[in-house]
Amino acid sequence: MLPCFDPSDTESGLRLLEELTSDAARIQREVLKEILTRNASTDYLRGFMCGHVDEELFKERVPVVDYDDIKPYIEGIANGERSDIISAQPISELLTSSGTSGGHPKMMPSTEEELDRKTFFYNLLVPIMNKYVKGLDEGKAMYLLFIKPEISTPCGLPARPVLTSYYKSHHFRKRPHNSYNVYTSPDETILCEDSRQSMYCQLLCGLIQREEVLRVGAIFASAFLRAIKFLEHNWRELCSNIRTGQLSDWIVDSDCRDAVSLILQKPDPVLASTIERECGNSSWEGIIRKLWPRTKYVEVIVTGSMAQYIPILEIYSGGLPLVSTMYASSECYFGINFKPLSDPSDVSYTLIPNMGYFEFLLVEKGDEVMNHKDLCNGTRDRVPPDDDDNNPPTTKAVVDLVDVKVGNYYELVVTTFNGLYRYRVGDILMVTGFHNATPQFHFVQRQNVVLSIDTDKTSEDDLLKAVMDAKRLLEPLGYILTEYTSYADTSSVPGHYVLYWEITSKDRPDRTGPADLRLAMEECCHKVEESLDYVYRRCRKKDRSIGALEIRVVREGTFDALMDYCLSQGSSVNQYKTPRNIKSEAALRVLESRVVDNFYSRKLPHWEPYNMSSSSS
Ligand code: AMP
Repeated sequence: MLPCFDPSDTESGLRLLEELTSDAARIQREVLKEILTRNASTDYLRGFMCGHVDEELFKERVPVVDYDDIKPYIEGIANGERSDIISAQPISELLTSSGTSGGHPKMMPSTEEELDRKTFFYNLLVPIMNKYVKGLDEGKAMYLLFIKPEISTPCGLPARPVLTSYYKSHHFRKRPHNSYNVYTSPDETILCEDSRQSMYCQLLCGLIQREEVLRVGAIFASAFLRAIKFLEHNWRELCSNIRTGQLSDWIVDSDCRDAVSLILQKPDPVLASTIERECGNSSWEGIIRKLWPRTKYVEVIVTGSMAQYIPILEIYSGGLPLVSTMYASSECYFGINFKPLSDPSDVSYTLIPNMGYFEFLLVEKGDEVMNHKDLCNGTRDRVPPDDDDNNPPTTKAVVDLVDVKVGNYYELVVTTFNGLYRYRVGDILMVTGFHNATPQFHFVQRQNVVLSIDTDKTSEDDLLKAVMDAKRLLEPLGYILTEYTSYADTSSVPGHYVLYWEITSKDRPDRTGPADLRLAMEECCHKVEESLDYVYRRCRKKDRSIGALEIRVVREGTFDALMDYCLSQGSSVNQYKTPRNIKSEAALRVLESRVVDNFYSRKLPHWEPYNMSSSSS
């Protein structure tokens, strides 16, 4: 069903994209028909459709679900039940998402065939980049790509992140070396499970081949900035390796050593001195251009929560375009940016109609329709519509891909070839226009996520629970927490969570002195971290991609001042609720000017690899 094309043939690739986007309605109907026909006898679909494959019946009978609804099926597969409880094709692996359920990663079913679909999707990116940037076949890409350790489910299926799965597959390792996928990093360095050794070797190879590099990047902006930080700490050692032609002894992964030795073949003191001169400069402004002078753009996702990294990336990149090429997830790969050189704030993704069957829930949560008004938390205000019916979204509000309306906000619902039916992805998208007959979407936000630094996604509820757990530690000391809010501080790398707390003392004669309060506040920071979910704690403890959580104590009355500010910006007095996350700079200034003390978590939170046997019981 996937059309064949040669990605290096730009014209035919672009023609294929025109065909796919012109015929979206028919392709979507065919995709649904194919999924229903194939999977008609799965337990899941039979339960609703009794063996029928009719599209209308599907919409009438199959409910729109979220992870908790399908979790028993996923856990069944992990524990050895037949794949055909949800999928006619054998489930070959479970993809661990960065979204969590009950504090653990959600797991999405996948099949061997899905790797072909992903390869097809990646191939579609090639003609688009070649259309906008000439000469990409005259050099290499320095993409810093990483895998994570995988685990095995109780029945022996691999469970791993989607990119780990792809990079380990023969689709990636045996990829044809066309203009788009010649990388400076040998596969062995990408496939090294030790992230420090992997990072070091990839940067070393990228520096040695600096004259050949035409583009640099990573998947998400946060990962690319981590690489720059790593370079800041390690450039002297990297240069010393280049000067002597000898790889550092601490690189013990033999595959990495062998692969790097083919690139680090001989001492190169001239190159080492050039890099030392650039890195030794007190300012790292424009460092990317200086170290990789032929680079044409930086490929990193800077939409959604990653937009917070744009200012710092602009400094390092010295004005190079920041290119977000695609929108994808563990559930399914969704969309491609057809104008890769557009400004990050203008990026829209065109959903590719043959990747899955897409439906859209108009965002009317609690019957509030999102509009464009900016609030003091920097997000969109939600304005109640005329009627006051409080029902949650119903399937009546679900529309097909080609029926979405420009300007509306929707939550994406996907039916995949691999056993997800009408599954709510949890992303809110806004329709910005159409490419031929296919809508284009601006990624607005992950639903309910208030804080995110790396792949962590902390919701208002997660934060509330963590703060409630922590604030108890203050009570024996005679202090109570009266208000709180939060902010993701990404002004340094790694970024960290900042909580603003207003505390007040109960009037007690034996009130605790400042030393005890300091200890208790540090303990509160730690307690919040302990209470946050698995992905936060993994990023914090294992990946070190999130720094220590900080609580900034503000003086009494600060949250009244914040309310006054929000009301002055148009919030209604009746509806005002303290925003639990602040993005607006002006609102942050209200808080910052009233900070009286700050405290950091002194310990790393508990984290260990997800143990499926214990959690699925
Ligand atoms: P995961 O399930 O861990 O693979 O994460 C997938 C999620 O990452 C998506 O559902 C989005 O919330 C987010 N994401 C992926 N691509 C983009 C993008 N281009 N812009 C913004 N967010 C994205």
